[in-house]
Amino acid sequence: MTSEEARGGAPLDAGPFARWATGMAAAIAGERDADVPCGTCTACCRSAQFVHIGPDETDSLAHIPAALLFPAPGRPRGHVLLGYDERGHCPMLVDERCSIYSHRPRTCRTYDCRVFPACGLDADADGKPAIAERARRWRFRYPTPADRAHQEAVLAAATHVGERERAGGRSLSATRAAAAALEIHSRFISPAVARSRPTRSPATERQSGD
Ligand code: SF4
Ligand code: SF4
Repeated sequence: MTSEEARGGAPLDAGPFARWATGMAAAIAGERDADVPCGTCTACCRSAQFVHIGPDETDSLAHIPAALLFPAPGRPRGHVLLGYDERGHCPMLVDERCSIYSHRPRTCRTYDCRVFPACGLDADADGKPAIAERARRWRFRYPTPADRAHQEAVLAAATHVGERERAGGRSLSATRAAAAALEIHSRFISPAVARSRPTRSPATERQSGD
């Protein structure tokens, strides 16, 4: 075992950065699912997270017992949250697998823990050590100048989001800050790089998510 593995596990290939960032921005916009190669990891299903479900997610709602759902605070009528048990586990996680994987909520289908290393943020700041441990293992690749340009844009966007929130006297969780940075990162890319859109990869199977 290498010293790196001893500190928290072997590195994981996160893929070329530009392709990932473009796909992730689309996932956040609701245009596609995230394509995280989760393998057997279920960290985000075991991290005491509330899963938001919108009223349009009729398939997910039909597969989750109503008793496990409650109104989402601050959201319009019909928006609900799926909670977690006393261990912090999602109640739909059965035998270490999502029991409703094909019907899982949008929140789960668009979650990608690679946002943390991409933005230079740490899930530990949100009190999510299992997710943080997994997130630290990802290693992006930078085969083209566009990959470096997208990485710099995401970091610049993350800095902008942090400064904007501090100026407004607010603070965002690392999770929300990362999502906000990915959402706007294209504004920080030069027009020439933005025009050369990277090829997207086909979605790889994800065992579960949050
Ligand atoms: S998205 Fe969740 S389940 Fe997938 S690798 Fe990251 S922490 Fe693990
Ligand atoms: S992927 Fe399944 S088990 Fe994991 S949080 Fe979502 S609904 Fe729960």
